[in-house]
Amino acid sequence: TLSGKTALVTGSTSGIGLGIARTLAAEGANVLLNGFGDAGEIAQLQKDLASEFGIKVDYHHADMSKPDQIEAMIAYAGEKFGGVDILVNNAGIQYVANIDEFPVEKWDAIIAINLTSAFHTTRLVLPRMRANNWGRIINLASVHGLVASAGKSAYVAAKHGLIGLTKTTALETASTGITANAICPGFVLTPLVQKQVDDRAAKDGISNEEAKKALLADKQPSHEFVTPEELGAMAVFLCSEAARQVRGVAWNMDGGWVAQ
Ligand code: NAD
Repeated sequence: TLSGKTALVTGSTSGIGLGIARTLAAEGANVLLNGFGDAGEIAQLQKDLASEFGIKVDYHHADMSKPDQIEAMIAYAGEKFGGVDILVNNAGIQYVANIDEFPVEKWDAIIAINLTSAFHTTRLVLPRMRANNWGRIINLASVHGLVASAGKSAYVAAKHGLIGLTKTTALETASTGITANAICPGFVLTPLVQKQVDDRAAKDGISNEEAKKALLADKQPSHEFVTPEELGAMAVFLCSEAARQVRGVAWNMDGGWVAQ
């Protein structure tokens, strides 16, 4: 059980982050949500999580591309919860174009949100984790932290970088009760991937269902999407005492993507 612990999950108003926040809440952790979305829906989400799992839930609006807002969020976590015990760096965006056509501002945004934000959150939560001699840092990388795909230069570079940051964090905390690891999902059907499904359907003149099958057939041998709940279960294991010697790994849950 994670009761008494506080988890900050960045980008948890949607998709994988929301799935992981729910799974950690189900284990008894208090949760600080973050991410964009409709204020009313986010308030409802807070209420639902708190009543379903009997935990404390709060929300901070920090834009993960802005270091000063990240600092404000970690300070808020300190005021509201006494600090962060479990940090899940999940916020991320995607943009697909070949390098010679890649918009420079998209490159900068992807590196800031998918990579640099994790440096800021990590540096800001470590002092408290060190003081407690306990902490869990889980970075949502991707199979694209391990292998590349054409058209995803910024994303692949950011995710490879995030795995590098994970390994360094693990080494710097290796003799403590703090662990740092990365999770590398294959395709998960969230809004981030639905956009790629839509683009595929438009490009090939096929239906939504056919485009999902085509996307999976290209890369994911199981021909099935990974789910946020399955990723949540992996995060719960990484938070457990049994996982205390799992340090600096990049674990894929990818329907066989990287086995090929
Ligand atoms: P999603 O679009 O469903 O959710 C992204 C979340 O991040 C949302 O809550 C959004 O509001 C938030 N976010 C985006 N920009 C932000 C910013 N600047 N500041 C704060 N929050 C911001 O996407 P998802 O598929 O759930 O992706 C979550 C993570 O998992 C990402 O890091 C992504 O790269 C990674 N991932 C996804 C897949 C997949 O197939 N969906 C596969 C591998 C890795």
